Amino acid sequence: MIAMTESAIVVENLVKKYGETSALRGISFQVYRGEVFGYLGPNGAGKTTTIRILAGRSSPTGGSCRVFDRPTFKNPALYRHLGVVFEESHLYERLSGIENLRFFAALHGVPSTRVQELLQAYDLAKAATRPVRTYSKGMKRRLLICRALLHDPQVLIMDEPTSGLDPTSAAVIHEAIGHYRKQGKTIFLSTHDMTEAETLCDRVAFLNQGEIAALDQPKALMRRYGQPVVVVQLRPSVEISEIVQGTISSNQVAWEDDLLTVRLPLEQPELGNQIDHLRNRGEIITIHTQEASLGQVFRQVTGAKLE
Ligand code: ADP
Repeated sequence: MIAMTESAIVVENLVKKYGETSALRGISFQVYRGEVFGYLGPNGAGKTTTIRILAGRSSPTGGSCRVFDRPTFKNPALYRHLGVVFEESHLYERLSGIENLRFFAALHGVPSTRVQELLQAYDLAKAATRPVRTYSKGMKRRLLICRALLHDPQVLIMDEPTSGLDPTSAAVIHEAIGHYRKQGKTIFLSTHDMTEAETLCDRVAFLNQGEIAALDQPKALMRRYGQPVVVVQLRPSVEISEIVQGTISSNQVAWEDDLLTVRLPLEQPELGNQIDHLRNRGEIITIHTQEASLGQVFRQVTGAKLE
């Protein structure tokens, strides 16, 4: 547990408009030093917009965004404290991994021993002299992390660092985040992966349509919004309209892998009747209970479905 005393990032009433579109509608939050802060929300919620402002690449329309008490926009003195891993960050594909890092090391005035150290730590030493275009997606992502860490920043900002990666490559990045956190650094992590958020983050914020819909420790949010459910997988023999009736509502029902999945709150008197109702309208394939999850919180506070 971190001591939530000293702020690394303070966002106050932040507004961003693109013409008529309000991407951020006056959001406020702070991230403490040494914290892994998760930033979650459906597509179009405003996550990338926030990250671009945090990284100093875009100006706020209103309000403020400060890191170590200094505004982020057009503040180069701050950038030596910030490392940014963007999903779409560019690498020089024709150059090797080591050439890419040396180029950025020179820009930051970082000694080349640091390049070697990072290539070793991120398991890229063997591939270091190969052109980046021959790298797998996981290797490129690791190289981007090395690039962001070259100057040993105090705050690491990561936009979807594991999206599209296989579990092994994602695990390497999870380990890196854990390692970095142990050094007392601060991490701002935007992700779509609720398990990642649940296991890595000290606190998470849910952003929805440019507003913070909920913010707390994952466990506290699960207690507040989640409840254990019974998950029934059904092969229906009738139309859905005959299933979504009475106490079963349409937001409890979804098609998953060709089966209709129905989520029913566990602790309620109607449960027995609801299961009988389903049994009379198809073949029940599986039935099991599920603890409250951050995915449930996501659905509840944003009204969106996880992709
Ligand atoms: P997220 O990263 O959560 O998917 P974004 O921050 O990319 O969300 O987008 C938030 C909203 O702002 C969306 O409605 C998006 O269409 C709009 N938006 C983002 N960037 C621009 C831009 N450069 N010009 C116009 N609208 C934009």
